[in-house]
Amino acid sequence: MARVKASECKCCVCGKPAVAFFPVIDPDIPSHPYCSTCIDKEKLKLAMKLWGDDEEMMSAAKKAIAIQRKERERVKNGDATESV
Ligand SMILES: [Zn+2]
Repeated sequence: MARVKASECKCCVCGKPAVAFFPVIDPDIPSHPYCSTCIDKEKLKLAMKLWGDDEEMMSAAKKAIAIQRKERERVKNGDATESV
């Protein structure tokens, strides 16, 4: 299966260069490319859907999103496979 790099795609929301695909949950669910701004919004939306009424889980999710953002910035110009 050919792997398309997110950096070769454009954000499906705003058209800026994408940094990663989301959601990467199931290979049967098509994931879309997002730029760093929009992917964080999408992750937050998903977290709200899953744990919207759980303050503890939401704060953990926000922390994870921030860590993932830093990780993305680290691999931004490299060839490392991005994990989201
Ligand atoms: Zn975007």
